[in-house]
Amino acid sequence: MPGIVIKPRARIFHGHDWVYASEIRKLFGEPKAGDVISLKDYRDRPLGTAIYNPESQIVARRISRRKQKLDSEFFQRRIEQAIALREKSGVDITLARIVWSESDGLPGVVVDRYGGHLVLQTLTLAMHQRRELIVEALVEALSPESIILRNDSPMLAAEGIEEEVTVLHGSNPGAFVVEAPTVEGGVKFEIDLLDGQKTGLYLDQLDAHREIAKLAKGKRVLDCFCNQGGFALACAKAGAASVTAVDSSGPAIEATLRNAELNGVEINAVKHNAFDYLKHCEDQYDIVILDPPSFTKNKKSLNNAMRGYKEIHLRGIKLLDRDGVLATYCCSHHASRQMFLDNIVTASVDAKRTLRLVASHGQRLDHPVIPAIPETEYLKGFVLELMPSR
Ligand code: SAH
Repeated sequence: MPGIVIKPRARIFHGHDWVYASEIRKLFGEPKAGDVISLKDYRDRPLGTAIYNPESQIVARRISRRKQKLDSEFFQRRIEQAIALREKSGVDITLARIVWSESDGLPGVVVDRYGGHLVLQTLTLAMHQRRELIVEALVEALSPESIILRNDSPMLAAEGIEEEVTVLHGSNPGAFVVEAPTVEGGVKFEIDLLDGQKTGLYLDQLDAHREIAKLAKGKRVLDCFCNQGGFALACAKAGAASVTAVDSSGPAIEATLRNAELNGVEINAVKHNAFDYLKHCEDQYDIVILDPPSFTKNKKSLNNAMRGYKEIHLRGIKLLDRDGVLATYCCSHHASRQMFLDNIVTASVDAKRTLRLVASHGQRLDHPVIPAIPETEYLKGFVLELMPSR
């Protein structure tokens, strides 16, 4: 088997599974993009098996500490293990991320389950080349009605994979309704896995929707960056006094309104840039939710991103009425939990208010974290309560 020899002090010696170009001492056996290769340390000791793509910044991603083929048996075993993990975690596995990349030992493979329908992403070349084996293993494990390939992530370019959205198994399910068990009676969402406009849900936030909904009874809620209305709908169903939801995307607002109707609740959904909305808003709220997209995809733009967070934090805090609650989320792996919390503190200092921490949130258990691979942890959230003026 071809392979690479890795330099001392590379991250793989600290429990990580990635090898960057700068960490390679030499190649042997002429590996080709998409190959399965072996990894060795500089004393020729084996470090396991990896997938290889010299086009990517991450040249190799380890799939096993042993010798391993990427065959049907491998995919079946890893997928069964991934499903077993979700079953143990108590997550409703009919609406969940079933496979999550490195965290399930399948780098680049992401599988989301919406009842009888699966959405697959193959974000690394080796896995993309073997997508038929992955589909077979998923059919074997879950007998889905359909499997949709949704390869439309910006990450694909880095691996030299073309964007593609297509049906790999079964037929296009069209639009259908799923029910998230976030509040009593559930929250219904209409989704369409093939149509770009109202695709899947942010499954990683379903626990947070439930936790915030618990605080919402009788409250005035503002859900900024609402997407299809995850927080807004859960709060409305939980008996909020009023719910306003803001998103800059027209289709997101339309989806929120349709979902409100589907759930028999009223939501004031506004198509607006959330920064401007927060700036010009004259109403006060009991709960302000901020769940923006990642403001930064890399370390370089981290400072700008933190300025963005600071601005919405400051404006969000100013809209809070007595005992108001700020629920704020950050889905960028580059901003650490502490950095994000510090950002909230700085904003509260400017607002001349004191916030008390009520809860810390993270990604749901169907997006498991491997601490040795920090990139697997990206979502953090804090729920804070305004203290009475002192
Ligand atoms: N809160 C949602 C997920 C939000 S995803 C949930 O729990 O399901 C981020 C959303 O922010 C997207 O819907 C995107 O359209 C929206 N968005 C991005 N930039 C925005 C801006 N400047 N103002 C308002 N919405 C924005």
